[in-house]
Amino acid sequence: MTDQLTAGLMALVLSFSLLSGCSSSDAGSASTAHPAGVQPSFTFQSSYDLSSQSPDSPPSTQAEALPSPDFDTPVQLPQLPSYTGDAYIAVNGNIPYFDPTGLSSVSFEYYSPRDPLGRCGTAYACVGPDSLPTEERGSIGQVKPTGWHTVKYDCVDGKYLYNRCHLIGYQLTGENANEDNLITGTRSLNIDGMLPFENLVADYIKETGNHVVYRVTPIFEEDNLLANGVLMEGYSLEDEGAGICYCVYAYNAQPGVEIDYSTGESRASSPSCLQVSLQVQADSLEQKQIDYILNTNSKKFHIPTCSSVEQMNEQNKQAYTGSREDLIAQGYSPCGRCHP
Ligand SMILES: [Zn+2]
Repeated sequence: MTDQLTAGLMALVLSFSLLSGCSSSDAGSASTAHPAGVQPSFTFQSSYDLSSQSPDSPPSTQAEALPSPDFDTPVQLPQLPSYTGDAYIAVNGNIPYFDPTGLSSVSFEYYSPRDPLGRCGTAYACVGPDSLPTEERGSIGQVKPTGWHTVKYDCVDGKYLYNRCHLIGYQLTGENANEDNLITGTRSLNIDGMLPFENLVADYIKETGNHVVYRVTPIFEEDNLLANGVLMEGYSLEDEGAGICYCVYAYNAQPGVEIDYSTGESRASSPSCLQVSLQVQADSLEQKQIDYILNTNSKKFHIPTCSSVEQMNEQNKQAYTGSREDLIAQGYSPCGRCHP
């Protein structure tokens, strides 16, 4: 997907959220007041049934003590539209499934514990100016989320099919190598599906100083190790959704590549897309480091057991470890007896 198209879709989502007006008309601002130090509270909907969504349900008057967060997946895969090439699509009328009523503008973060298969669950946060990272980002290369494969295709931007995708973007919380917050995601999911919403929220927080309720739920089918996609929900608290309000499903797919979601294995599905990992292997074989003996006078190189090596003047003899190509590039030629 081109940046232009992504930008266009973002504008569409934005204008939709503005037009549809996520803000609940009768949610009094008094209900969001919270004494300092009180555990932030969040009320989950009792039912996530898509058809029972009612924007006019009465707001709860007071926030109760926080129950342990309910990480039930708000939608299941069959309820979500199939991938048709768009990086994401609005669902539930672009209205988050969660009910932000009673939430105070206090930043918090929750990450579901990983399940017995090692898979991440819902990550859920209230992000604001105080949650934004202040330190430089470190390395996450050591984390191998479920379904991880290091594989490259020449049709993928940056070549690598998979990225380590933060559920809640690093730029919002500074959570970096938290394994409960990292899934295996395609380049397209990371850059075209999730990043636009992370940027949107980060920009909004920086401009307004407001808080955004931010929830990301990876959607796995049965025991699959790779998520089919992520549900992303966002809602700005202080202005009751006027600035940020969206509910989208972003696809863990990659144009030109066919993915087996049970394992994360993949293959090129288009003739214009080639897997490059095999070529990389071939290249590295050619570049293999090999022991040679050089004659610095004759500019010949030999394998160490060549009979010519014994006859060589010690002054001209030099051990060398490296590739054949490098030696030839340095002006050496292979011995005609041992054919290195
Ligand atoms: Zn030789």
